[in-house]
Amino acid sequence: MSTKTLRNFIGGRFEDGIRTFDKLNPANGELIARVHEAGRDQVDAAVAAARRALPAWAAMSVKQRTDYLYALADGIERRFDDFLEAEIGDTGKPVGWARQIDIPRGAANFRAFAEIARTLDMESYMTDTPDGRQALNYAYRKPLGVVGVISPWNLPLLLFTWKVAPALAFGNTVVAKPSEVTPSTATLLAEVAMEVGLPEGVFNLVHGFGPNSAGEFITTHEDIDGVTFTGESATGAAIMKAVAPGVKPVSFELGGKNAALVFEDADFDQAVAGVANSVFANCGQVCLCTERVYVQRPIFDRFVQAVKREAEKLVLGRPMDPATTMGPLVSHEHREKVLSYMRLAVEEGATVVTGGGVPQFGDERDNGAYIQPTIWTGLPETARCIKEEVFGPVCHIAPFDTEEEAIALANDTKYGLAAAVWTTNLVRGHRVAQAMQVGLAWVNCWFLRDLRTPFGGSGLSGIGREGGRHSLHFYTEPTNVCVKL
Ligand code: NAD
Repeated sequence: MSTKTLRNFIGGRFEDGIRTFDKLNPANGELIARVHEAGRDQVDAAVAAARRALPAWAAMSVKQRTDYLYALADGIERRFDDFLEAEIGDTGKPVGWARQIDIPRGAANFRAFAEIARTLDMESYMTDTPDGRQALNYAYRKPLGVVGVISPWNLPLLLFTWKVAPALAFGNTVVAKPSEVTPSTATLLAEVAMEVGLPEGVFNLVHGFGPNSAGEFITTHEDIDGVTFTGESATGAAIMKAVAPGVKPVSFELGGKNAALVFEDADFDQAVAGVANSVFANCGQVCLCTERVYVQRPIFDRFVQAVKREAEKLVLGRPMDPATTMGPLVSHEHREKVLSYMRLAVEEGATVVTGGGVPQFGDERDNGAYIQPTIWTGLPETARCIKEEVFGPVCHIAPFDTEEEAIALANDTKYGLAAAVWTTNLVRGHRVAQAMQVGLAWVNCWFLRDLRTPFGGSGLSGIGREGGRHSLHFYTEPTNVCVKL
């Protein structure tokens, strides 16, 4: 594959940055792209372009504006194979996963928010007035303005468009920065924006890092009206500090330490397959992945052995091989972090049921960031490996006796993103799901998403909810209009 050059997209034009950085393929260590890092002046120019574009974009008819979103979705699909190759090159994720999830969701996000923008109703109340007449109140929603979008590397196109699409649909203009680890599909999206004739400055793309780079230049910019961010909780805290002086709104989708609760009455095979998928999907690099599994004691040993068999069945292959079910981690740097938790788990007293290290292939994959799917048991609940997000193909499995105990264990975390309950007792399923202190609780499934539903977490997992009409709360500002009749 030839080395690509990835540029910034500012005011409708591609621009070089102040310097370049290298992007390596995590499956084999090869250089795949040179990325132009935007300097402060370029972020300023991007914000200015977005500001100039805002009035016309906000005033455009909903039909005309959302037609552009449908065109962006069609444009992604037209270049499906380019997006697929770029996403896999950046992340090393298996082709089957990227083909089914990442790229289709990139297009689906634009369609879903276009549809929501077209069918919005308005909150209104008739109010009795003191003189015996009536007043009509309605909440008129205006775009927030110029929105800063900062996204992570684990589901690059999916999470980037998950923010860009609602921002544009509700009449905002955007300055967006993808992760420095996965810059390719966002750049392709800028090409598509140009191809479909999106008005200049409505969507601007800047490449770079966080501190003292494009990320920080966006979050500290005086003329940004709000920041929507997906990434680590610690980064969310830094961004919150950065935007505080301007009292700007933020929407944060952050880390997780998600639990699965498996009751003895669960459909055993379904629970084993579902839990294994929720631990190892995308090499454990989904914010919604399960890292803590609690299993009712009578089925504990059998369950651990069954999930171990699932882990050992995973095919750690080349990303473009359709037989591959687990690719490498996203980078060698991230593998170092995950390996440090594998060493720590042993120090903290874990029994390593399977995995725990780096696989050996005897081919170019040895230059990649591959890691073994890993299961631990026997850790105390106070262990750092139980408390901190690892973000790799790793889980700890522990037994419980009662429903109350299971709920307490699952909720004993500073995070609050997701949980999954496995039981054939549906009354219990509802009860336990509602008791989870999380933004998303599944019963007998995982990762099923309807884009109209609220998405996000509490505690260290974030601030606010996006998805469907819930996205209105961040991307628009209501003005209540009261008309005396
Ligand atoms: P990260 O926080 O390291 O980086 C995310 C983005 O923030 C990148 O674009 C990065 O350049 C930028 N950034 C870093 N420091 C910054 C700063 N000081 N100012 C402005 N921008 C800054 O996260 P990551 O490692 O890319 O992604 C993995 C994390 O994301 C995990 O914690 C995962 O749980 C979380 N995540 C959460 C969700 C969710 O919806 N809750 C979804 C996916 C990933």
